Amino acid sequence: MVQIFPPERVNLHTHSWYCGHGVGELSEYVIAAEQQGLDVLGFSEHCPLPDHRWSSSRMEFDLLESYFEECRSLQRSVDSLQILIGLECDFYPEYATWYREFILEKQKVDFLCFGVHFLPNGFGKDVYLKHLPQEKRFLHKYTDLYTAGLSSGLFLFGVHPDLFASFYTSWDAEAIACSKEIIECAVTYNIPLEINGNGLRKSMIDTPAGRRHQYPLQEFWELAATYPVLVTTNSDAHQPNEVNQWQWESFAFANKCGVELCSCEVKNQKNSNLHEVALLPPQEERKVSNK
Ligand SMILES: [Zn+2]
Ligand SMILES: [Zn+2]
Repeated sequence: MVQIFPPERVNLHTHSWYCGHGVGELSEYVIAAEQQGLDVLGFSEHCPLPDHRWSSSRMEFDLLESYFEECRSLQRSVDSLQILIGLECDFYPEYATWYREFILEKQKVDFLCFGVHFLPNGFGKDVYLKHLPQEKRFLHKYTDLYTAGLSSGLFLFGVHPDLFASFYTSWDAEAIACSKEIIECAVTYNIPLEINGNGLRKSMIDTPAGRRHQYPLQEFWELAATYPVLVTTNSDAHQPNEVNQWQWESFAFANKCGVELCSCEVKNQKNSNLHEVALLPPQEERKVSNK
């Protein structure tokens, strides 16, 4: 069976207690998703790495199995919505094989998404983007990693591509050039970019051009609107009441920037719990179809 869901019925970016900085059981997110009118709920917990890198804000390695098991058991017991099993990955090329061979092929997840959250500060330490100084070298490193993630063939979509705006606060020629590189790469590989709802809920920051969200960055998405790039939006929920409650804000933001949002196609695979998931251009027919 193939079903197509409009963007307002879909959230593919959901955390929980598993990552250590979210709250709530997976089952509570399912209940909230039903109450908040979702048809598709994708879990996307922060993926642990075999070397435990960034472990302070990632799911513990030992929890990976129980995360998958709990997701699968919810899939079996809940009929009212499509539950998809995913992970949000930090893209670094050295982990591409791990993501491909261990996570995608062995664990059989429905989808992976990726972002770049940390960069090495040059002194042997990984620093969360927001805490980096506004320096071009970090912006360039971010852009290199993000475009490598887009071209890796591993991911259904890229999350918060404009997260660099949390430390690189000027919209100057450098920021424009790097944004173009990211957007053009997403067009080339046909990978959707995500307007992130969690950014809209976070505290604002002061920049040379005034007070604004850390991300999403309006200028980035206005630029994206001039390209044939696929755009999606997700809540990036870290507590159950966030699964869909604030999505109207993301939709208003997308509308203001002139971007249209993808719908979501879900195919149930025969003789397996797995789903094939695709994000479709907005002009595709937005209807629930049974084939
Ligand atoms: Zn993220
Ligand atoms: Zn996230």
